[in-house]
Amino acid sequence: MKTIRFSTLCTVILLTVFSCKRKEITEEVQEIVQEPTKEQLDKLYNMGINIEEVSVQQITMLDGKTDTYLVSGDIMVPMSQLDSYAVLESLENGNKQYRDINIVSSPNRNINILGFTGGSAGLTSKMQTALRWAVNNYNALSNSLNFNLSFGANIGAADIVVFRINEPNGGGSAGFPNFLGEPYPWIRINSGTEAFSTNVNEHIITHEIGHCIGLRHQDWFNRQSCGNVGLVPAEPPAIWIPGTPTSPNADSIMLACFGNSEDGEFTDTDRTALNILY
Ligand SMILES: [Zn+2]
Repeated sequence: MKTIRFSTLCTVILLTVFSCKRKEITEEVQEIVQEPTKEQLDKLYNMGINIEEVSVQQITMLDGKTDTYLVSGDIMVPMSQLDSYAVLESLENGNKQYRDINIVSSPNRNINILGFTGGSAGLTSKMQTALRWAVNNYNALSNSLNFNLSFGANIGAADIVVFRINEPNGGGSAGFPNFLGEPYPWIRINSGTEAFSTNVNEHIITHEIGHCIGLRHQDWFNRQSCGNVGLVPAEPPAIWIPGTPTSPNADSIMLACFGNSEDGEFTDTDRTALNILY
């Protein structure tokens, strides 16, 4: 779910240049353009997150809490929790690998997911339909996950809240389960997603739910689906899940970027991955 942050960065840089007369403003801007440290980037890389374009952003969620996040594409990692995330661990006996922790733990697999409908952050009618379809994708699998979908504004009762933000580019953003094995609680759907079909909206929401329960991008190492060119490493340094393709060309719901003809459905290998993990 690629979003364009480069223009935002340029704006910030321009603001820095033109606001030098006022020291307090300059300082404020400098805080906004904080860069990730090498240690933080190393940790993200070992978590299986692409580190080519990582930004530091202050993000306020629907509960009013503002936190500092490391943002890579559509993935938001709370900086304060970075140390608690596990790195991806390889099996010793070869090239079949999988994650062993920081997926949703057994007691947390009955997941209440809320389609937010209150006020300006409410999902559009199309997005609500797409959320129903996305939840149906997961509930059609015979595994230990179960999603209970409701709509409204009672975010306190929800494990995952799906809401809309004012962002003209299509796409969304989410994060990964925490060390307690709880799913990531926020899915932000960009308002620009409304311009795409319901199937594309379904694809984006299904993809973001995938992050919330622990899936990484299938092409995390080079984001080939986003139009990047570059060799796929012979041995990707991070996991893939047994039975799933390692090629970024495969049509996984977890490719980093989407097209405007997505059907919103899992591939067989997506189902395999989810059924192995859960
Ligand atoms: Zn993603």
